[in-house]
Amino acid sequence: MTHVFHRSSTHIPPTVARGEGAYLYDTTGKAYLDGSGGAAVSCLGHGDAHVTQAIQRQLGEIAFAHTGFFTSEPAETLAARLTDLAPGALNRAYLVSGGSEAMEAALKLARQYHLERGDTGRARIIARRQSYHGNTLGALATGGNAWRRAPFAPLLMEVSHVAPCYAYRGQQDGESEAAYCDRLIAEIEAEITRVGPEKIMAFVAEPVVGATLGAVPPVAGYFRRIREICDRCGILMILDEVMCGMGRTGTLFACEQDGVAPDILCVAKGLGAGYQPIGAMLCTEAMHEVIAGGSGFFQHGHTYVGHPVACAAAGAVLDRLVGDDLVGRVAPMGAVLRGMLEDRFGQHPHVGDIRGRGLFLGLELVQDRDTKAPIDADRKIHAQIKAAAFADGLICYPGGGTIDGKDGAHVLLAPPFILSEDQAQELVDKLARAFVAVGL
Ligand code: PMP
Repeated sequence: MTHVFHRSSTHIPPTVARGEGAYLYDTTGKAYLDGSGGAAVSCLGHGDAHVTQAIQRQLGEIAFAHTGFFTSEPAETLAARLTDLAPGALNRAYLVSGGSEAMEAALKLARQYHLERGDTGRARIIARRQSYHGNTLGALATGGNAWRRAPFAPLLMEVSHVAPCYAYRGQQDGESEAAYCDRLIAEIEAEITRVGPEKIMAFVAEPVVGATLGAVPPVAGYFRRIREICDRCGILMILDEVMCGMGRTGTLFACEQDGVAPDILCVAKGLGAGYQPIGAMLCTEAMHEVIAGGSGFFQHGHTYVGHPVACAAAGAVLDRLVGDDLVGRVAPMGAVLRGMLEDRFGQHPHVGDIRGRGLFLGLELVQDRDTKAPIDADRKIHAQIKAAAFADGLICYPGGGTIDGKDGAHVLLAPPFILSEDQAQELVDKLARAFVAVGL
């Protein structure tokens, strides 16, 4: 009998006991290679001594002091370091407890910013179909994942959802990448015209799409063109790097590789690397100034904003990512892992696409490589692969997108940046065995 309200009432997972490096161990002693960092969280692997010591040190000083009364040294230092490392004019950090909270803060700040400039009509968000931005109501409404939204549809604000930048499925036969990009941009422009630019608050997207599509990067120039549109129309650009940020793609922030800086950037997962729950919303100094020179008060907040222990943990994570240059391992290790995946699955009859950036890689599973026909949704192939891999001691993160109302399937890989070549090989071997086990 368990009293934990588990997500699934039919499956109680094994009890985790400890973690070390790229592996987790359950209470029976079974080892699991963490090939996805849970959900792209554990970028440092498990049991990182530098981070755990920083947490212990901070606990010995002060664990919690409400930000209604105090700021703290870990919060100030983390905000200064993050904004220093962030692209563009992102100069303020609002420190929360996770990705959904970061996205909620972003949406509310965007609205308040327009309001305080007297631009009171701007409330509409443009986001993309097949996207995920969190499970709280604002973030859920922003996301375009039909399955996640469906039960809560009556509770969700109206959002304009345009096509994702998803070349494998979206680019038509014979269409160049540039023409595909033109078509996506035209759809955004048309939606802005339809709604009225003066009513649009923000454009929201994940630079490299994680959970919903499986590590799908944009085509060249896509985000630069959206940046131009946003600037022209007074629309704020919010980039959700909750999953793809903090070095996962080979640069600390994924958008650096697309040559854009947003007005608001959200990070989480890798920021705390799983050692503490933490997220951050970074915004430009110009946005902060509007609030500072207006009401002087961001009308938002949670009890655990700027939590000192979480901030100390994230500071230590940054030491490892930037100071020890673990981010520098991501592109070369990503290339090694990708090479192994291509060798093993490049010609696999049910692998339609291998994609991603850095150590953020995805395989799309199909019924037929040539027609790209998805695997029958009723087979729930992604759930089967997850179970087969887990039984064999591999944690990977399979998911299903929505292709023409059907469930497409992918496997998302996001191993820790400390992954060795042997571990990369183990990951690929175990994934291949899982495919065989489920009949692929
Ligand atoms: N945005 C993206 C892109 C995510 O992948 C996630 C989590 N999967 C979230 C937001 C929500 O983050 P959290 O689960 O920490 O609330």
